[in-house]
Amino acid sequence: MALLDIRNLSIDIETAQGKIRVIDKASLNIVEGSIHGLIGESGSGKTLIAQAIMGLHNNNWTVTADRMFLGGIDLTKLSQKERRQIMGKEISMIFQKPSSYLDPSQKIHTQIKSVLPKQTMKIRIRRILGKIRRVNVQSSRLQMKELLHKVGIQHDISILNSYPHQLSEGVCQKIMIAMAIANNPRLIIADEPTTSMEAVTQSQIFRLLYKLNQLNNTTLLILSNNFANTSNISDYMTLVYCGQTVESGSYKQIITSAMHPYTQALLKTMIHNDPSHEHKGELYTLPGNIPSANQLPIGCRLGPRCPRAQRTCVENPSVTIKKGHSFRCHYPIKLS
Ligand code: SF4
Repeated sequence: MALLDIRNLSIDIETAQGKIRVIDKASLNIVEGSIHGLIGESGSGKTLIAQAIMGLHNNNWTVTADRMFLGGIDLTKLSQKERRQIMGKEISMIFQKPSSYLDPSQKIHTQIKSVLPKQTMKIRIRRILGKIRRVNVQSSRLQMKELLHKVGIQHDISILNSYPHQLSEGVCQKIMIAMAIANNPRLIIADEPTTSMEAVTQSQIFRLLYKLNQLNNTTLLILSNNFANTSNISDYMTLVYCGQTVESGSYKQIITSAMHPYTQALLKTMIHNDPSHEHKGELYTLPGNIPSANQLPIGCRLGPRCPRAQRTCVENPSVTIKKGHSFRCHYPIKLS
């Protein structure tokens, strides 16, 4: 069952040069309890999509969508205030560069306390034989320690009494994850959660996210430009290029039968995936660069870089869906 169902999400941003369509009819279908990778180069619009889901957009944005449902909630019908109320409870976000999102002037315990459920003293009262009995009292301090233990931080007291600048990026990211899970949200969006971290810390963070999904059945949407790392833990993947979602499917569908030239190019960058790659041979890259937002090509935005492009590609390709595998291309690889 889909927890998040987005169809034809578009974002237009008002700039000095006029309106720019930064996200063009992006669709995303996230199955409850799954790990979904949203993969694309830096600047492809992954963060903008996440911000639109969270309702974190500025006044100069125009966000439209044919459908935008979180469970049974129609996100397009909610006011900003109602949207803020579900943030944290239903959806949480883990940002890239965690140290810049934590308040440098506040100790960690103050920051974690601010996201704990309003009821900091959990008191369950049962009436037994007419008497009121206090069954369970849990201090917020205890809750904070529990959260830190969940994300693998053992030295809870020293961490809680530290400022963000006294901690490493890896620990700060674990704290962000602890804050994200404080309210048991149904969906966690992790935006490049391991950017600029050492390889060991990267795998720790990915293991932690995987554990969260497996133990709590938390749905994860992981935004990343690293195809190899993200595909390792993803059940489903959506590829995004220049504000357009180009292909979406299960891990197996994407790895074994990619239809879109962009997906194929990303797969070729994983050396073990390309049997024709020679020892010390040049790594495969698509020619050219990702275009800037104010110089977007007409039609399929991969056109100027696509080895299969033809005249018809100046028209926007429609989405083809086969057994849950969707792609947007006039000349898909397998069907030609
Ligand atoms: S529609 Fe054309 S330009 Fe776009 S990916 Fe397909 S072949 Fe390439």
